[in-house]
Amino acid sequence: MIITDTHTHLYSEAFEEDQKEMMQRAIDSGVQRFFVPAIDSTYTERMFQLEKDFPKEVFLMTGLHPTHVKENYKEELAHVEYLLTNRKFYAVGEIGIDLYWDTTFLKEQQEAFQYQIQLAKKYKLPIVIHCRDAFDEVFEVLEKEKGEELFGIFHCFTGTKEHAEKAIKYNMKLGIGGVVTFKNGKIDQFLAHIPIKHIVLETDAPYLAPTPYRGKRNESSYIVNVLEKVASIYKISTEDAARITTENSKAVFGV
Ligand SMILES: [Zn+2]
Repeated sequence: MIITDTHTHLYSEAFEEDQKEMMQRAIDSGVQRFFVPAIDSTYTERMFQLEKDFPKEVFLMTGLHPTHVKENYKEELAHVEYLLTNRKFYAVGEIGIDLYWDTTFLKEQQEAFQYQIQLAKKYKLPIVIHCRDAFDEVFEVLEKEKGEELFGIFHCFTGTKEHAEKAIKYNMKLGIGGVVTFKNGKIDQFLAHIPIKHIVLETDAPYLAPTPYRGKRNESSYIVNVLEKVASIYKISTEDAARITTENSKAVFGV
């Protein structure tokens, strides 16, 4: 069984003490592919080191996270573009709009999001979207940039069925993580009505640990709990759910 974690911050400070053991636990649980989203330039070196340590398993993205769009965002975007011209990445992410933490830089967040979508198109890469309290604002940008070259993943999808259908129309797959296991997570109510070909799995480690680890540090091995929940929603085996969602991830990332 090959499980693909399409969104995991393996280079996070949260794993400083036990990164290798944590990776091994995930690999032992069947996770063989880890797609690693960027946050800002301060993490670039750590991401490269991670890739060196796990060259077969780790696939890096580059991008500027919306909560890290600050006064210096133009320099950060230049860093993303510099990286894209210099080596291979598998997606531009995570990018998007977050109005939950801070709305000061909404205009800049929108601009950075649209600019990075254009970069992704230029390099024929998928985008990985972070959207928190900002569905209208994210869809507004997607509407401007829609088309065949626009595709990717709506990471940590927590919207309604209508939001899901809308995201799919923009060629997005839905990244399903720990929230699907929460009692009040809501997406489990309608997920069965969304064809599984639109679904990929993720942990968003170290955040959003699934039940029964809710509130604790999340890690990629816990994706098994997400996998089991998704399999039960679609009434298929965990093996089939792992195979299908891994194929879906290949369709997005090209590997
Ligand atoms: Zn993330």
